[in-house]
Amino acid sequence: MLLLIPGPVQTRAEVRAAMAQDIAPWDRDFQAVYARVRERIVGIAHGTPGVHATLPIQGAGHFVTEAALRTFVPPGGKVLIPVNGAYAQRMARLAREAGREVIAIDLPDTRGATAADILPALEADPAIGTVAFVYNETGSGIVNDVEGIGAAVRAAGRRTVLDAVSAFGALPFRLDQHPECDTLVFTSGKCLEGMPGMGFAVARIDRAEACAGHAGSWSLDLSDVLAHARRAGWGSIRFTPPVQAIAAFDVALDLYEAEGGQSARLARYRANADALYEGCAALGLRPYLEKRHQGPVIVTVHQPADPRFDLMTFVEALKRRGVLISNFYNTAAPTLRIGAIGAITPEDIRGAVKAIGATLEEMLPKAA
Ligand SMILES: *Cc1c(COP(=O)(O)O)cnc(C)c1O
Repeated sequence: MLLLIPGPVQTRAEVRAAMAQDIAPWDRDFQAVYARVRERIVGIAHGTPGVHATLPIQGAGHFVTEAALRTFVPPGGKVLIPVNGAYAQRMARLAREAGREVIAIDLPDTRGATAADILPALEADPAIGTVAFVYNETGSGIVNDVEGIGAAVRAAGRRTVLDAVSAFGALPFRLDQHPECDTLVFTSGKCLEGMPGMGFAVARIDRAEACAGHAGSWSLDLSDVLAHARRAGWGSIRFTPPVQAIAAFDVALDLYEAEGGQSARLARYRANADALYEGCAALGLRPYLEKRHQGPVIVTVHQPADPRFDLMTFVEALKRRGVLISNFYNTAAPTLRIGAIGAITPEDIRGAVKAIGATLEEMLPKAA
């Protein structure tokens, strides 16, 4: 089966094979792997050792995103969130339910957010301490302007929390050029092509220390993750982690480096997304985004307007041809949501486009 979803992604056989073992989390051999993974991640983030540290939280991306918001936005503190997609909405909900005051800037889900979208609200309210935002919006496929927003927040003397879950490892970002960034977060199962199961925050050590006591949740306290590493060692972990997923992630990082790192991965994903965008357009499927707003991670196209079309039936029929896409959408209008990331190539995409075409013909036969 070819998985064309924006996570958990299609993985390589070597990554899956690394799971085939039993592991004790406190075993010294595993602790070395875990400490190494943390160090490698700081490198991929272009963090500075001694300034930045990897603070993992086991589970889905929402858990580490919530941990980042709880840790770096004080209880009752104000956080500004540009909301132009499903994942930004989720971030706003996590912050609100954690008792933070959310200033939401509502924007269309068809273009990336820029500094100009947030600056008026930021300047109008000095009590906003943090701007939390999504790098790649996995709802529609747009990419927000991390450089512009980061520079604006830095100039305004505020902080950022960056949801880079579907961007990290593929879209460029250098923590050493973003001192305003308290943390970025991502997961093991997206652009680094590991298994699902771990969330990672790459955070400023000084800020994680200064924010001790904010989280109001022991499980989701990144300051406590840091304090624990300091006390018990960087290979040590507070609660039982998905050890196999971490072992597999170490192998996924080997493959990432062998491929050529961020720029090579971005080039492959961009080629995948282009092949999807052009291929679907050639089938008569109207793109949801203008080409210039189309990011490299996920392509969304409008569902056929034909009343005979049904998303769930279509997805199941496509699956019988060996291709799995999302059986839901989270754009403002009904779309097909197709992932361009994972261990897949443009050739795989061209095969998938053929399967999509054949499935559509089968489902919507042209009147004779
Ligand atoms: C995948 C994703 C998440 C986290 O999703 P989980 O299902 O909790 O792992 C968060 N933000 C973005 C932008 C994502 O793409």
